[in-house]
Amino acid sequence: MKRIAVLTSGGDAPGMNAAIRAVVRYSIYNGLQVFGVKRGYKGLIEGDLKEMTIPSVGDIIHRGGTILRSARCLEFQEEIGREKALNILNIFKIDGLVAIGGDGTFRGAMALSEMGFPVIGVPGTIDNDLSYTDYTIGFDTSVNTVLDAVTKLRDTTSSHERVSVVQVMGRNCGDIALYAGLGGGAEAVIVPEVEFDMDKLSENVSSSMNRGKNQSIILVAEGVGSAEEICKKLQEKTGLEARTTILGHIQRGGNPTSNDRVLASKLGQKAVQCLIEGKSSRVVGIRSNEIIDMDIHEALKMERKFDMNMYNLINILAR
Ligand code: ADP
Repeated sequence: MKRIAVLTSGGDAPGMNAAIRAVVRYSIYNGLQVFGVKRGYKGLIEGDLKEMTIPSVGDIIHRGGTILRSARCLEFQEEIGREKALNILNIFKIDGLVAIGGDGTFRGAMALSEMGFPVIGVPGTIDNDLSYTDYTIGFDTSVNTVLDAVTKLRDTTSSHERVSVVQVMGRNCGDIALYAGLGGGAEAVIVPEVEFDMDKLSENVSSSMNRGKNQSIILVAEGVGSAEEICKKLQEKTGLEARTTILGHIQRGGNPTSNDRVLASKLGQKAVQCLIEGKSSRVVGIRSNEIIDMDIHEALKMERKFDMNMYNLINILAR
């Protein structure tokens, strides 16, 4: 292993820069040359690679987004696209690739490794929807962004004795709603993993407001459906004033938290170590506070475990 490349792909996540920095500097520390690929698999197909140096990743550990940029690339999903990418990797004499991204990025990494090229995946996505790892890079920052927004919303929600229905990101995974719900003292969270009962929710909200609560915050993961609809129904059923807030892309931005920076640095190191050890087709992650690597096929097959205890605790503590 003499030369490696690193790319970020799919949805950007705070902490991706810290991961790039770790990959670049840990590689150079180990005597490797390292190339940055612009715009994920798209840049790989187009040959948009540039050698990275110690100063080229200076002053980025604290920045959100990704200096390498990201893109979605349909062409890479076809074998012909991946062959073009392989050709570029050969032209640049690259021996291994670190792909930072989510589920889709990992499927791309798996497909490339099946063509015989060593690839290691680093989980970078705010959704926390990769089952094999307890946390993904960007998730903690995103939860903190939602918490900050919920804290601000509480002021106006309580002043007007309203209900706030807040839509957060998470198409198949309700972890952002779950963690921000527990940390933010939400009345309830509505997530794709648990069927929800509109009548029961309305009853709970009404009875707690009748008991003297001056506000209710409800977090809805986007995968469940329209927060606007839920808000309307809640207003009809309870007679309370309710408002919707859709947080949108602010959840992807901002300076990464210390947890995300530390996780990104450790996972970046682990990915390079895997390549140096001659491993391929692996993903790195954190499990029970230990940095691990595992087979990419197995990782993608694993079923997500939803934390029902946290979900129930939100309801218990909201009373
Ligand atoms: P994320 O990595 O955040 O889940 P996407 O799902 O958009 O984001 O995936 C990022 C990129 O990974 C896609 O644009 C595509 O180039 C590549 N990709 C996704 N799925 C596959 C697949 N099944 N085979 C090959 N490449 C894929």
